[in-house]
Amino acid sequence: MIKVQSLSKAYGNRQVLDDINMHVKEGEIFAILGHNGAGKTTLIKCLMDLTKYSGEISYAFDTSKLYDNISLQMQTSAFEEGVKVNDICKFYKDILKSDIDIKKLLKQFDLEEHSTAYVNKLSGGQKQKLSILLTLINNPKVIIFDELTTGLDVMARRKIWDLLKDINSKNGVTIILTSHFLDEVEALANQVFILEKGKHALSGTVDEIIHRSFGERKKISFAYTNEDPQFSFDYRLAENGKFVVEYDSKLESDIYNEISQKGGYDININRFSFEDAFLKILGYKMTDEGEMKDA
Ligand code: ADP
Repeated sequence: MIKVQSLSKAYGNRQVLDDINMHVKEGEIFAILGHNGAGKTTLIKCLMDLTKYSGEISYAFDTSKLYDNISLQMQTSAFEEGVKVNDICKFYKDILKSDIDIKKLLKQFDLEEHSTAYVNKLSGGQKQKLSILLTLINNPKVIIFDELTTGLDVMARRKIWDLLKDINSKNGVTIILTSHFLDEVEALANQVFILEKGKHALSGTVDEIIHRSFGERKKISFAYTNEDPQFSFDYRLAENGKFVVEYDSKLESDIYNEISQKGGYDININRFSFEDAFLKILGYKMTDEGEMKDA
């Protein structure tokens, strides 16, 4: 749907994007992940042709009608005060000369009963839903979401994720999103593209990234009353007081049997997570809110 080749962008003598190559395929949810200042918004601006750049971006549609095909989600803070939900939808429909059924969209977004409410009276989550709804009015092939759920609480974030999956599958829209939340990207993205200081750091599916870091390795955690258990394998004590062993999955039954025979309990076997892969490859940790931070 969109192919980016050798894309670079500098502000003055500051290189903000450096030789970016990426391919967003039709129907994907494609996540661009990176710290604040990594260059995510600048990359979006290039995709939307809102800033000059070097390199090439090609689209699988007529670029003279770029904005008929790509929608960019507006920040909710940009809504006018004193406007009703219905009015803003009609306004968008008129200026975009769209024939979309607004009532149906409001229903899909669970906003039907708020159609006559003032926009500034909506909750943060409802405003976010409305701004996503507005991106659909011109029936775009691609929607770009910049920092989709920043500022929303956990419940509202999850609802927005469901909505995004819904419009990806039901409305058939290719989605590009930027985020600095690992959990958001893990929950939504088919493809992840990680930017670090303007450079491509890593890309692939979440599973590929985990597999590249850990191969067939898994981890087992268990509680043990003896502070210094004598096991035949390496282990470490985690922050939660449990012991953790990382191992090749071929050895799983041997390790499990030894732990249980020697009195280990609360035994949990886990695959490595996306967060584990991040920590290993890039040295990032996650805050309690799910944001990336340096380890
Ligand atoms: P992100 O979206 O990942 O937080 P941005 O793309 O907004 O990152 O910014 C990347 C870098 O480019 C930052 O260091 C930022 O300060 C710089 N930058 C962004 N826009 C401008 C601009 N208009 N002029 C100069 N520097 C900019």
